[in-house]
Amino acid sequence: MLACLLKEHGGVVLENLPPPKVGLGDVLVRLKAAGICGTDLEKIHGGYGPGGILGHEVSGQIEQVGEEVRGFTKGDRVVPHHHVPCYGCHLCQRGDHTMCDSFKKTNFDPCGLAEYFRVPEYNVTRGAVTKLPDSVSFEEAALLEPTACCLRALNVARPHRGDSVLIAGLGPVGLTHIQLLRSIGTGPLFGSDVRKVRLDAAKSMGAQRTFNPAEEDVAKGVKAETGDGADFAIVSTGNPQALSQAVSAVRKGGKVLLFGAPPKGSTLPLAINTFFADQKSIITSYSCTEAEIRATLSLLTLRKIDLRPLITHRFQLKETLEALDFASSSAEAVKTMILV
Ligand SMILES: [Zn+2]
Ligand SMILES: [Zn+2]
Repeated sequence: MLACLLKEHGGVVLENLPPPKVGLGDVLVRLKAAGICGTDLEKIHGGYGPGGILGHEVSGQIEQVGEEVRGFTKGDRVVPHHHVPCYGCHLCQRGDHTMCDSFKKTNFDPCGLAEYFRVPEYNVTRGAVTKLPDSVSFEEAALLEPTACCLRALNVARPHRGDSVLIAGLGPVGLTHIQLLRSIGTGPLFGSDVRKVRLDAAKSMGAQRTFNPAEEDVAKGVKAETGDGADFAIVSTGNPQALSQAVSAVRKGGKVLLFGAPPKGSTLPLAINTFFADQKSIITSYSCTEAEIRATLSLLTLRKIDLRPLITHRFQLKETLEALDFASSSAEAVKTMILV
């Protein structure tokens, strides 16, 4: 079977491997759709240091279940989840599940960009394989994980109904935030990005006004629209400048959600007095758990959100290397999807 692997000393290869062996409590999934995430590209281009496992925004069909697995059978349409908390430690008991020491140690074998991959017993027994209703396509289902990450972040930041919101960075995650904010019923939405295709997508999804930070001052523009600044801002890009723009663009007492992963080691000079005297705050959120995956699946099933317009380009599994190149270099790509 084909699998796309990161080599220890850098570089990415498409290899022919035997399918993984299934243990008593494991589930083997046949990949149907996989979204390419910005974090996959970071892993390839060294943003997180060497190594790593590619592919976590996946959906597929169960090919085989271990002898002790109950409730699943060959052919089930599912969304498996790669990172799973223990649900028992000090952090988990306080709701910081994605900070659990076990969380990032769990993953698919050999990876999510493979024809078949094994979901380990640890994940299966903790509810990390979710069945899909027929009304949700494999493509849409592959977007459940990143959308669930956005949903968790909004549950942490808790914007109010009617809030004006700036979304800085209009990639797949920024556009997903627009959809979720609209389902909550927030007020006017503003977006910023340097790519025209993304500014246009934000407008078509309901952003009232968009700004290109290469051409105009985002904070000034938001203040011209809102009077004293946005109630809330989401930074859905790793660009540190977007964070300082967002801090400037929110009103006194406003909140900024840091959602995009900044490059390792990046720092930012910020006027600390802004946080004290103007009572602005930065909130962070990382990844998601099964609770948000299931809540997102409900939103999707009830058609409260529509993730389909995010997918702009599709490749086959044997074209994965081209797809990864394309996703990191194209100005046209929003969500690039591998389909099997
Ligand atoms: Zn992702
Ligand atoms: Zn834990």
